[in-house]
This record gives sequence, C-alpha cells and structure tokens, in this order.
Amino acid sequence: MFIGHSEAGLIAKKYAKRVSLGTLFLAAQFIDLIWPSLLLLGWERVRIEPGITPGVPLVFEHYPISHSFLGVVLWALALGVTYFFLRKQIRGAIVLGMAVISHWVLDLVVHVPDLPLYPGDSPLLGLGLWNSVLWCWHSVYFSTSASPKLRIKEGVGASWA
Ligand SMILES: [Zn+2]
Repeated sequence: MFIGHSEAGLIAKKYAKRVSLGTLFLAAQFIDLIWPSLLLLGWERVRIEPGITPGVPLVFEHYPISHSFLGVVLWALALGVTYFFLRKQIRGAIVLGMAVISHWVLDLVVHVPDLPLYPGDSPLLGLGLWNSVLWCWHSVYFSTSASPKLRIKEGVGASWA
C-alpha cells in the first residue's frame, strides 16, 4: 500500500505546486511513518500472522494514535499548521492536511475491519480488499508497470505519459 499512498502524494502535487514532492510524499505516508515509533514505545500493537490475508500478514491489534480517524485528522491539522507557520502558504497547508487524511481513506479501502474511528471503544472499519488475491496482484502489477510512465515536471506536477 506504500505505492498507493505515494501516488496520492503525486496527485496532491497538482493542487499544491509550490510544495515539494518529498513533503507531499511525507504527508501521504505520515501515519505509517510514525506508526513504528508508536509500536516501539508499546503504545500501539501489531501481530504477524502469515496467511491472515493474501495481501498483508499483519493483524493490527491496536493503533488508535496513528490510525484512528480522529487521530489522523489531528495529525493532519498538526502537519498543516506546522507547514503554514514555516512557509506561510495556506493552500500548501490545506493540501498537506488532505494528503494525511487520504492515507486513512486509502487504508479504509484495503484494510480488513481494524481501523478505529477514535481511541477507546470505537467501531472498527475496513472494506477488506486485502482479502482479494486478484486485487493484490493487480495492484502490484499496476503500480510497477505504470510508475515508469509517470512524468514529473518540476513546478507543474505529475502527469501520466
Ligand atoms: Zn496506514
């Protein structure tokens, strides 16, 4: 799914031309980048279980700080506000925040129901595309075959060749 989140960063470039592509990638991957630190601190939990889904052998037991919807909205606000104070670009700040939130939306499509809406006793959401072997192979093929055709023009954004 890292590739899908990166493509969200590429799409965001179209709407925030003054924001570097690296910053947009960081925003789109942000909650997955902080997640390992939260695991090491013991504040979130994951279990490896081979075969649990064809796509990913992980059981996300507890990750309300990085992957609850409320948590993601707060991370989006934090990143957007930080960017605004550093660069004074409201459009870039909003697009960065949206890129952070796009992560949760894309995760919602692929995860099995394990994404909380908020910390605590929350319902868990996920549409479960990781359960589809066909989709997993299709996404790997599409991502690896389409990416070399992608052209990135500095200051213009990304477009498909
Ligand atoms: Zn994620």
